[in-house]
Amino acid sequence: MHDYRGWFYANCTVPNCLNKVLPEEDTFVCADHVMKDAPTFMYYLNTVITDDTGSIEASFFNESLAHLVGYTCNQLMVKKKNRNPKEIPPVIKLLTGIQLLLTVNIKPNGSLGVDSAQKTSTITPTTPY
Ligand SMILES: [Zn+2]
Repeated sequence: MHDYRGWFYANCTVPNCLNKVLPEEDTFVCADHVMKDAPTFMYYLNTVITDDTGSIEASFFNESLAHLVGYTCNQLMVKKKNRNPKEIPPVIKLLTGIQLLLTVNIKPNGSLGVDSAQKTSTITPTTPY
């Protein structure tokens, strides 16, 4: 996972303003406005995924990541106060290194977008007696 690119995005709530919103200490701001209410934050997480054939960059979007994490992006941002765009919340970091079954699409630049993701069930080893 690439912390430096951030893990969420949100657009300004002011009509016709397309600026991106970032959290400030007690509020949310775009380049021109201060939000009265929290905007709708969505996940956007860049990762490197690996399989038998190698590794490739893949982007997780809102639905697939919300499904994996168990929280919406707004819940992490507003209720759980994970407001640092450069710091991936621990519940997302927990997903590092686990096996996932991914449905992906290839974007024009050759990287992957993840359409859906689910944890593969772990097989419990049987212990012979
Ligand atoms: Zn704005």
